[in-house]
Amino acid sequence: TGPAPLLDVRDLVTRYGRVEALSGVSIQVPAGQIVSVIGANGAGKTTLMNSVMGVLPSAGQITYAGASLQGVPLEGRVARGISLVPERRDLFASMTVQDNLQLGAYLRRREAWRADLDAVYTRFPRLRERRAQLAGTLSGGEQQMLAIGRALMARPKLLLLDEPSLGLAPLIVRDILNIVQQLRQDGVTVLLVEQNARASLAISDQAYVLETGQVKLSGPASAIAKDESLTASYLGGA
Ligand code: ATP
Repeated sequence: TGPAPLLDVRDLVTRYGRVEALSGVSIQVPAGQIVSVIGANGAGKTTLMNSVMGVLPSAGQITYAGASLQGVPLEGRVARGISLVPERRDLFASMTVQDNLQLGAYLRRREAWRADLDAVYTRFPRLRERRAQLAGTLSGGEQQMLAIGRALMARPKLLLLDEPSLGLAPLIVRDILNIVQQLRQDGVTVLLVEQNARASLAISDQAYVLETGQVKLSGPASAIAKDESLTASYLGGA
């Protein structure tokens, strides 16, 4: 048996009132890998991310870096090294790029965030150029970079990325997925949720296919990409 995964989710059940959105989901995210979760609209991908982050209450076990996250609130999860880039990006449109980034560092000491800000600007030179611009006036791709940059300000070990390519043109999707690969090279572990299955599988180590709140299939991303039962429904034909 290999080393324990950085994130180990077992039998996760998440409900919205009477609606069970996740019905016993188990996924493992090894340290240093990109693991993608693919699935149709409403499969439960966002619910999974929000449950791991602690935004939504859930039943089951979530173990992170060897310790249970049971009862650990959102801030505690951030402090332990988990950051979420939410699907809607949740930027403050009428605040500047730099102010949005600083909000991502609210749990960090003031001396520390200066260096982190510089690291984010080095990774995203476009954000440095536009640091005084209002976030709401950025292009879609720039807004996604800002959302990722803000999450990086918390110095995550595990980055939860919820549909980073949503609404972006194919060339920009490429840029964003290249950034995700660079983050992995820099030692960040990534759990990636995508509807853009083919592109996300191409950069992932492992993959899970979610269908109506359950894992339908899992394995190495290269094998999932070739799975014939998926080509029609998720991968846009052969
Ligand atoms: P998408 O790609 O469209 O975002 P998803 O795979 O992320 O889909 P979820 O957003 O996790 O799916 O939704 C899973 C299920 O839970 C869906 O049936 C959805 O209608 C339901 N659901 C999500 N949010 C709520 C809510 N706030 N109240 C009630 N039901 C919800």
